[in-house]
Amino acid sequence: MTVGVRFAPSPTGRLHVGNARIALVNWLYARKHGGTFLLRLDDTDTERSKQEHADAILRDMEWLGLAHDTFARESDRMDRYAAATEALKASGRLYPCYETPGELELKRKSLLTRGLPPIYDRAALKLTADERRKLEGDGHRPHWRLKLGAGDVAWDDLVRGPCHFLGAHLSDPVLVREDGRPLYTLSSAVDDIDLGITHVIRGEDHVANTAVQIQLFQALFEAMGRGPAPVFAHLPLLVDASGGALSKRFGSLSLETLRDDGIEPMAINSLLAHLGTADPVEPFLHLGDLIQGFDFKRFGRAAPRFDPRELQQVNAKLLHVLPYAEVAGRLEALGLGGAGEAFWLAIRGNIERLSDARDWWAVCRGAIAPALDDAAMGEKAASLLPAEPWDDKTWSQWTGAVAAATGLKGKALFMPLRRALTGRDHGPELKSLLPLIGRARAAARLTGKAA
Ligand code: GLU
Repeated sequence: MTVGVRFAPSPTGRLHVGNARIALVNWLYARKHGGTFLLRLDDTDTERSKQEHADAILRDMEWLGLAHDTFARESDRMDRYAAATEALKASGRLYPCYETPGELELKRKSLLTRGLPPIYDRAALKLTADERRKLEGDGHRPHWRLKLGAGDVAWDDLVRGPCHFLGAHLSDPVLVREDGRPLYTLSSAVDDIDLGITHVIRGEDHVANTAVQIQLFQALFEAMGRGPAPVFAHLPLLVDASGGALSKRFGSLSLETLRDDGIEPMAINSLLAHLGTADPVEPFLHLGDLIQGFDFKRFGRAAPRFDPRELQQVNAKLLHVLPYAEVAGRLEALGLGGAGEAFWLAIRGNIERLSDARDWWAVCRGAIAPALDDAAMGEKAASLLPAEPWDDKTWSQWTGAVAAATGLKGKALFMPLRRALTGRDHGPELKSLLPLIGRARAAARLTGKAA
């Protein structure tokens, strides 16, 4: 059987790192097992789903590099949910309910105040045909619930191991609303069967849904002969550095915001692929490099901590080893098309974001404010600058000559030169920067004549 997995975001908001992790793990599982990766937009909630979010999801997935093999939108598949609804009605598993939201809320509150779980009392099952006709005659339209079996639900979770859910703790789920629109619980299960999903990999906030959906898969199998239920894997949700839910920070941790902040997609993928495992987080240049090491057995049960600072560190580490060929196009887009490989190799170890390259290009070729600590030494050093062409040996030859002429050495020699040439105390090796700065500019900076 070919492995089929899906990432199924609802286009009701932007994707954040938590979603990206689920998407990545699905993608890796598909790639590792020669399966297909479906991107499905769960957009049956027509009030909250927005095209703008759907577009952003596609953009973010492409940016992460998580290419899908197949694509589906639930709003295109309403006829499938209608067919399943009719089959479930015919098999007696779907029953009409007429309570208003207000009435349901009252029932819920009354159960909770008595210390009971807020489980639907199935009052609608006791309605006679006459009572139903009267309700409908009075203009009430039913919503439809799945009649759950009484037994417990068990499954073998790829992350959580054997799972067991008490049937008595489950409320009959509403699958279809008053206006006939299907709810996620139904549409998702119908799609998972129709679209060949063998493994449902999602966050552990869906464990209760799984208990219900396993029963729904069985009901669909009995009503339509379609199935079987997929295998499930529930990943613990990410928490923030203090152990709290990450959801409060979703705005700042949206993929869009991280992209705008200059975070590399492979920094995100590298971190997320190993978060929650005992493996060290190393920067990987390509998604393909993550496939081999991927295994659910490596994921623990504890909620992994997501620390934005760790992401920044991985981002910097990734840039430090990024070959020129992989970044040339993006440097061009930053207006650094002519900067070249020598420039990139000189500065990549000193940046945290790609856009920092602009500052170093300004140090090499632009206007900076050089810090001239010792004018006499600057004049002397300038007079000793050799004739061009320069290469990466020029620095040591020149500073050797300056040391001989001034008697300075070590930090006392190098720091004033660095500050005069770059305007900064720290930065890339000067033997690499000096040829990029060039003789005329170096001389001007050393003598305080120009930036
Ligand atoms: N649309 C659901 C969500 O975003 C999908 C859950 C699932 O993977 O089944 O939470």
